[in-house]
Amino acid sequence: MVLRHAVGPMLEILCKAANDGRIIFVLSGPAGAGKSTVGRRLASLDVRIALNVSCTTRAPREGERAGADYHFLHQSDFDGLVQRCEMLESAEVHRHSYGTRVSDVLGIFAECRDALLEIDVQGGAAVRSKYPRTVLIFVVAPSFSESRKRLIARGSEDREEVTRRINRAREEMLEAKNYDYIVVNAEVESAVAEVQCIITAERARMTRQRYRALVEEMRAGAEPQKGDEPSG
Ligand code: 5GP
Repeated sequence: MVLRHAVGPMLEILCKAANDGRIIFVLSGPAGAGKSTVGRRLASLDVRIALNVSCTTRAPREGERAGADYHFLHQSDFDGLVQRCEMLESAEVHRHSYGTRVSDVLGIFAECRDALLEIDVQGGAAVRSKYPRTVLIFVVAPSFSESRKRLIARGSEDREEVTRRINRAREEMLEAKNYDYIVVNAEVESAVAEVQCIITAERARMTRQRYRALVEEMRAGAEPQKGDEPSG
């Protein structure tokens, strides 16, 4: 399995993770699609998957906990991680920096779990280019007006920020074509069930690859051996 664009000294470890069959699932989608809710629910239902905690330079919202919702960093610390190639991907979203630390993803892999990243479309493309076993899932609300309604109901952004996110949502929709799957989140439990099906299918794909290797191994070992001949 080939990994493009070296991620500093972490490359070798990432290569091994890819060969071990670890998968990165990316959830992206426009603001108001409900991807955070879907992501959290998925992680609570499946012990073999862990929701990664991203880094951001934006301020915590009310109720958000450092280390659980995000690693809240100063810009200089964030830039340092990027410069030292310690980010699997990073992007500017809504005028703030966001990124996925390589070490966090490796920590998830070390627990023999797959990683779930809830990141924007730029991040999704960057992760895919570095880690081939990335599955891109795009989550959308059933309509644009529903997205807008959810975003306003959330009440965590001021009017100006809501408008900015809605405008960006239009641009993000255009990126859906580059994703492997699109899930319409009309109702959370059904959307979660759909993503679970995707995860199961993708894991089975990995098993099929391992199965092929096993068949090869058995074929190689199936050469007649001394003592195999029937007696008598
Ligand atoms: P929020 O500030 O509402 O939590 O997130 C804003 C946007 O940033 C969302 O689209 C979210 O998916 C994206 N985001 C969160 N973490 C990351 C990350 O680590 N990398 C990238 N590229 N985007 C992220």
